[in-house]
Amino acid sequence: EKRIYDLGEGGMHLVHLLGGKGAGLAEMRRMGLPVPAGFTITTAECTRYLKHGRLDEGLVNEVREAMGRLEAATGKSFGRGPRPLLVSVRSGAPVSMPGMMDTVLNVGLNEETMEAMVALTGDRRFALDSMRRLMQMFGTTVLGIPKEEFDRATLRVARNNGPGSADMMDLDTLDGLVREFGEVYRNHGLEFPQDPYRQLFMSIEAVFRSWNSDRARAYREINGIDDGMGTAVNVVEMVFGNMGEDSATGVVFTRDPNTGEKRLSGEYLVNAQGEDVVAGIRTPENVYGMERRMPGAFRDLVEACDRLERHYRDMMDIEFTVERGRLYLLQTRVGKRAPRAHLRITLDMLKEGLISVEEAVMRVEPEHIEGIMHPRVEDGQDGSVICSGLAASPGVATGEIVFSSDRAIELSKQGRRLILVRPETTADDVRGMAASAGFLTQKGGMTSHAAVVARAMGKPAVVGAEEIEVDHIGGVLRARGLTLREGDVVTVDGTTGRAYIGEVRVTEVAERDDIDEFLRVCDSVSRLQVWANANTPEEVALAKRNGAKGIGLARTERMFLGNDRIGVVRAMIMSRDSEERRSYLDRLLPMQVSDFTEFFRTMEGMPVIIRLLDPPLHEFLPEKEEILERLSGPADGESAAELKKMLETVRDLEEFNPMLGFRGCRLGIIHREIYEMQVRAIARAALRVRSEGIEPNVEIMVPLVGHENEMKELREIIMKTFSSEDPEGRIRYKIGTMIEVPRACLVADRIAEFADFFSFGTNDLTQMTFGYSRDDAEGKFIRQYIERGILRHDPFTSIDLDGVGRLMKIGVELGRKTKRDLEIGICGEHGGDPESIEFCHTIGLDYVSASPRRIPVARLAAARAAI
Ligand code: PEP
Ligand code: MG
Repeated sequence: EKRIYDLGEGGMHLVHLLGGKGAGLAEMRRMGLPVPAGFTITTAECTRYLKHGRLDEGLVNEVREAMGRLEAATGKSFGRGPRPLLVSVRSGAPVSMPGMMDTVLNVGLNEETMEAMVALTGDRRFALDSMRRLMQMFGTTVLGIPKEEFDRATLRVARNNGPGSADMMDLDTLDGLVREFGEVYRNHGLEFPQDPYRQLFMSIEAVFRSWNSDRARAYREINGIDDGMGTAVNVVEMVFGNMGEDSATGVVFTRDPNTGEKRLSGEYLVNAQGEDVVAGIRTPENVYGMERRMPGAFRDLVEACDRLERHYRDMMDIEFTVERGRLYLLQTRVGKRAPRAHLRITLDMLKEGLISVEEAVMRVEPEHIEGIMHPRVEDGQDGSVICSGLAASPGVATGEIVFSSDRAIELSKQGRRLILVRPETTADDVRGMAASAGFLTQKGGMTSHAAVVARAMGKPAVVGAEEIEVDHIGGVLRARGLTLREGDVVTVDGTTGRAYIGEVRVTEVAERDDIDEFLRVCDSVSRLQVWANANTPEEVALAKRNGAKGIGLARTERMFLGNDRIGVVRAMIMSRDSEERRSYLDRLLPMQVSDFTEFFRTMEGMPVIIRLLDPPLHEFLPEKEEILERLSGPADGESAAELKKMLETVRDLEEFNPMLGFRGCRLGIIHREIYEMQVRAIARAALRVRSEGIEPNVEIMVPLVGHENEMKELREIIMKTFSSEDPEGRIRYKIGTMIEVPRACLVADRIAEFADFFSFGTNDLTQMTFGYSRDDAEGKFIRQYIERGILRHDPFTSIDLDGVGRLMKIGVELGRKTKRDLEIGICGEHGGDPESIEFCHTIGLDYVSASPRRIPVARLAAARAAI
């Protein structure tokens, strides 16, 4: 088996062996793009190394041979002049883990080759600068010397020799720094190795080991990445961005990762080396600045970006270096981006013909759609602004300030919502970021760690808010005269880049053109329709705006709860006989007529399923305790007699197990006058809308049927009542049933004799199949069940395929055995859950019905299910 691939030998198809970076470099070299020469040691070698704890003989020999080939290819020699070969040793896993593992640059530099570099370039400053970088990276990464010791040494030398950071130091100072760094090594009883191969092999080992660093493990855990994969190691000829004013290093995205706009977005630093951009030591400049400063390199960069996009058919993230005016590409990968940008890019690439409709649909995940529907801070709250920084990752999050990742992890376990506030974040903060709702940093640019990770997590972030002062040790945030501490509440708006004190008012997104356009693309491939659960005219209107093709469930009981109605409803319930009850129902009738009229009007001929009353009647009355309390001091206009009557009724209706009690069609059969009133209202509303010129699409649904005889009896009642309102039969309507009692699934063939449609009520069906009370189980034991692995997920969120799903399948098969074209949908909460939607597609349902806000996600899920 091959242990080492020279760059250009492999390609993306070997990503599992070469890692993302190695495969990308190989691919770019094969495309003829300017990539330095080098080779990649496979991930399999990492696994082997981690198992044995040392590099084996065979690999050591092969690395030496590969170095020989590299010397030949570059015309340079490793560890010798006159043209010394220096290499970078960089990690690269098959799955992108940005910044999680280690890198060492300038390997091969020692006292001898440094002098050769001086002779070669005539630039002692550059050679010294490269040397101090190697000593620092090697010391921290390979030998584990704390980074602070090098920082302190730098400060010491700088202070003794005038102002400035390392890149502003004069020759003598740099020289002193290299000597000082040697001291740092000696303080640890170590020596910086002069033997270039020792440097190389130790660096390779360090990169292998970094696969198992705490931060890398944490990142994998959070992102569900396999621990067994291992990292590849890329050994690549160094090119130098720190060779003076015509050299630079930078990072560029081929499109804007925040908006998706088709223009380059990136940053670069003149006279710098790779790690400077990420470390945020100097503020990088906009990549378009290169156009003027180094036009040739810029032109090549633009062309490379274009070619890479066409090749990968995606937005790319590219690292580059310019050495004395010449461009080199050092890495490429598919770029991380905000959800809004992702949608824009996907739509644009579809239009540009780069991707197909199916690819476009499969590239967008439900989380992207949810991410875009993020709220924004309402205007007019400028008074609460505490700072303004870079809008690094869109969305709004409110939470308590926390200054360290450890605290964030601890407090999040108590269910607190947190905003992680840091001077800047590093790879060590990933766990803490996962535990927080949003981020605010004082330093860093759009490609800083905090920004990249936030976008990947889809969480709001404001970075580089230079005006604040974060003292994370003391636990203080100073901003515009305020002193804030842990626990103080702030809001970050990553869409505008502002942070606010306390909670602020937010609004839904106004701009939705992209979503609408994309969802129309989705609809063009899906078979499953998306309908809506809606109970008020406002919800129906929202459902329609979000693209619902029908109303799958209107819960009429919700219409009984309005202030103007609940009194009548209660009086109706407390009636002593059916005559009295009818008189109250007569008062409810016109109210229901107006509700239904609105529904039919808004939906303009699309199906509207109205469900007859379902819950047990006591739900409309106050709690017993409340009535007792009111009895002790009745409010104005409230008579003790009335209250006593109410108490009596409540006691009458009391049930041990109301969810399995006197509700649904049971209630409709025993108190048929209630259903009769509702059917009458439906008929009148339909006739009214018809007279206005809209042909309503009426479906009447009976809840909680378990026995075909229930359906048989109610069908007769409904038909009789309807024709008393519409004797000429002008309105065509369907009568159907919910399937939400397990028995109904098992006798669905018989029920279908009396039903024109089925709608799975998976809330009740789950409750009754598991025997878990839907109102109690969640808080009491389901969470623990999931933690212990007894349940894989919450069955009230995602359909339990083995049990509930199996019953549904039986229900569909039996139902369609009786009526081949039986219309079947689902209206339980699961109708908005992507995994459940996929299942509904598989078993051949006609539609899913979801709450109005879930409709966009459901439309996407329906399309993905069809591909
Ligand atoms: C159901 O049981 O799934 C359903 C949609 O009805 P409800 O939630 O109103 O009981
Ligand atoms: Mg139900």
